[in-house]
Amino acid sequence: MQGEQHYLVGLDLTGKRVVVVGGGSVAQRRLPRLVASGARVEVISPEITPTVQGLVDAGEVVWHDRVYRSGDLDGAWYVLACTSDHGVNALITADATERRVFCVRADVAVEGTAVTPASGAHGGLLLGVLAGGEHRRSAAVRDGLLAALRDGTLADHHDQPAGVALVGGGPGDPDLITVRGRRLLARADVVVADRLGPVELLDELPPHVEVVDAAKIPYGRAATQDFINTTLVENAKAGKFVVRLKGGDPYVFGRGFEELIACAEAGVPVTVVPGVTSAFGVPALADVPVTHRGVAHEVVVVSGHVAPDDPRSLVDWSALAALRGTVVILMGVERAARFADALRAGRPGDTPVAVVQEGSTRAQRVVRSTLDTLGEDVVAHGIRPPAIIVVGPVAGLASELPFRT
Ligand code: SAH
Repeated sequence: MQGEQHYLVGLDLTGKRVVVVGGGSVAQRRLPRLVASGARVEVISPEITPTVQGLVDAGEVVWHDRVYRSGDLDGAWYVLACTSDHGVNALITADATERRVFCVRADVAVEGTAVTPASGAHGGLLLGVLAGGEHRRSAAVRDGLLAALRDGTLADHHDQPAGVALVGGGPGDPDLITVRGRRLLARADVVVADRLGPVELLDELPPHVEVVDAAKIPYGRAATQDFINTTLVENAKAGKFVVRLKGGDPYVFGRGFEELIACAEAGVPVTVVPGVTSAFGVPALADVPVTHRGVAHEVVVVSGHVAPDDPRSLVDWSALAALRGTVVILMGVERAARFADALRAGRPGDTPVAVVQEGSTRAQRVVRSTLDTLGEDVVAHGIRPPAIIVVGPVAGLASELPFRT
């Protein structure tokens, strides 16, 4: 049968018996959406994958641990024949047809009486694409539609978001923003952006979008934050959807919660979209796992914006010096030597250190050092902010990987 001759329909399977014969990878792929539809799903198979077992253990599907028998389809509304045996699949399809129950046949789709569309979900929409059994074609079109909906190329006028979205944009590479962040950005009327984060995405915004570049606001630090808060609140109150695009995660040294408080006090609704924080994402890009089994059981993320002995510091550096695990320092380039000294009070001078400047961008640079030499290495290599300093044995693991150097 050709795809265009199928009749595309949405089934309400709530509380209805659906029989899936087979418990392998095909069944495994179909089950989550069936379960989500509210169907009473029964799996018949002498073997099931660990993932299917997980659904059984969670009570989401019922498992009959045996081979298929003809009576199994009694009372079923929908059947999926997903065994690896053509003869059994043919028998199931014939039994289903006799009972006038639609049956998907996984091995030879055209032999079944129903086919599963390539499907996807987006903000309350369900998409299904059929291409007469050409799976690659239907999957490619589905992927394209989802991508277009997510980045806003394909307008979905259903619910224009309101208020303010605090969006964590990731460390800088535009590919490292979350799907949700990207989707909300595409709907923004106003974008308030930081210097750090995926600034390239701003070029893609349509011309009517107003971009406020927080890096160019000509006040001091505190006044700038007030200006940002006021910009968020006033635009949202004027009915515009405001995206506050921040580097990394909004709540990791990002002052995001101050912005949330300002909005909350003004009665402006806020959506928080977490991001890939540079504290963890940037080390990863330099082959530094912030934890590693048998090496580090802890990771502490520290702000280096004030020196260890600064009265404003809230960090107990002597406690950090007593740790064996990983210390990740943000905003620490200028005072790198001071932090190294503070940590050397308790940690060996040859403790590995990795410094990653402008991680995830084309300008990314990595310097491998130790606590003893960090101060001079930072100067010698001309390291400038933004950079991450990772201290601990994990920072030395990459040098043990000959094929990555
Ligand atoms: N909210 C951000 C951090 C803001 S503080 C996050 O979660 O990532 C700013 C500091 O983050 C910088 O001084 C630097 O230490 C670090 N940083 C942010 N982006 C970075 C990047 N691409 N490469 C290296 N360090 C980065």
